[in-house]
Amino acid sequence: STFQSAHFIKSAEKLSQCPLDQGVEVAFAGRSNAGKSTALNTLTNQKKLARTSKTPGRTQLINCFGLNVDDRRLIDLPGYGFAKVPIAMKKVWQAHMQDYLMNRRSLAGVVLVMDIRHPLKEFDEMMLDWAKSNRMKVHVLLTKSDKLKRGPAKSTMLAVQKVLKTLGVDGSVQTFSSLNGDGVDDLRTKLAEWLVL
Ligand code: GDP
Repeated sequence: STFQSAHFIKSAEKLSQCPLDQGVEVAFAGRSNAGKSTALNTLTNQKKLARTSKTPGRTQLINCFGLNVDDRRLIDLPGYGFAKVPIAMKKVWQAHMQDYLMNRRSLAGVVLVMDIRHPLKEFDEMMLDWAKSNRMKVHVLLTKSDKLKRGPAKSTMLAVQKVLKTLGVDGSVQTFSSLNGDGVDDLRTKLAEWLVL
């Protein structure tokens, strides 16, 4: 698929260092350890496109990947919730992230990655608030669905759907597992729609 063509373009600390704001891109956001890197690697069929790390939150940069279609990009936003980082530094990253989300014109939508066993934590709710106030589209990826039985996975999905609706966020929700392939096709379909592929 087109996603296999994903290749690293650059890392940016802030919006002004991101690639030229042309074309269409989709950003991946999530708490550290939610499974964001693994999801990106599975999506693109690449073992180490996004580095998966056992140390939560080591990537603090906005990582930009290009596809082999004109000006289509995947953006890996910094994982949130790194333990050993001073609050002042967290605030700087948060400001950069907010700047990116609010001012990036080529941003078509955000894939919000949550561990299906721990959905809707504080960071996630903050993202949904921004989404609501900036009319940003959100696709919630409930990862590690292999950790739950089908019933509980489905009810978590429905519960998150309900929260989006209540908040008035323009969004969708799906389950996902890099382990057994659950939802990989759904994610590709959603991204192809957003990226106009
Ligand atoms: P990130 O910090 O959000 O990039 O999270 P990672 O992608 O590094 O994943 C965090 C941990 O969750 C790692 O130990 C992964 O192996 C594990 N993980 C990620 N995706 C899945 C999945 O679909 N199923 C299971 N069982 N474990 C996963």
